[in-house]
Amino acid sequence: MEPKYRRVLLKISGEALAGENHTGINTEMTQIVARQIKKLHDLGVEVAIVVGGGNFWRGRTSTAMNRETADYIGMLATVMNSLALQDALLAEGVKARVQTSITMREVAEPYIWRRALKELSDMDVVIFGAGIGEPHFSTDTAAALRAVNIDADIILLAKNIDAVYSDDPAVNPDAVKYDHLTLKEVVDRQLKVMDLTAATICMENNMKIQVFGLAEENSMVRAVCGENIGTLID
Ligand code: UDP
Repeated sequence: MEPKYRRVLLKISGEALAGENHTGINTEMTQIVARQIKKLHDLGVEVAIVVGGGNFWRGRTSTAMNRETADYIGMLATVMNSLALQDALLAEGVKARVQTSITMREVAEPYIWRRALKELSDMDVVIFGAGIGEPHFSTDTAAALRAVNIDADIILLAKNIDAVYSDDPAVNPDAVKYDHLTLKEVVDRQLKVMDLTAATICMENNMKIQVFGLAEENSMVRAVCGENIGTLID
């Protein structure tokens, strides 16, 4: 299989690493995800990754705490996931680095734009931890922003569901599955692909997005080879 994209930003939700438990880090699931990423790497694709933190903590759902503190805890959760994924990638023989938007130099490299570019062109996988380093944002926004920063060809948005639908298909059997959407449609109709800040960054920077289900067979490789296995947004 021939990759269509030279450099990709892969966004994985924190829950993807939790497996059936939906919380914490499941070593086996993390290994499965790492093996899929290795396949992209083996195809010669430069891979940058943003991992969420929802398997540990989501700032916006924690009402009993001030939002800033809750969001900082959320950002730290993404660093835990980033380290777990780095470890799993290293175990697969893939050189992986973590760069964080909040400096924690004993744990990971700081986010430095030019260094990230250099590492990617050296074929290291670069995992961006701690979101954008600011409360009131999401890791979707971090994915959109870092994709633009590194001039990625596309965002590969791995989801628990296989595509974008007009409504939740688990609740509404009439929900329509979209094969193709424009970024403007996502923003105007506020479709639940990513939050509005992230979608707007993509729209303003012509950053296309391939949404697909992580559980689909060989999904990452098929997405990077240009197969529209879910919803293509451009
Ligand atoms: N977060 C933040 N700023 C960022 C990125 C993340 O404050 O730039 C916090 C926020 O509290 C969020 C949590 O980190 O709820 C985990 O990220 P997210 O909910 O995006 O993870 P996912 O749902 O993708 O697992």
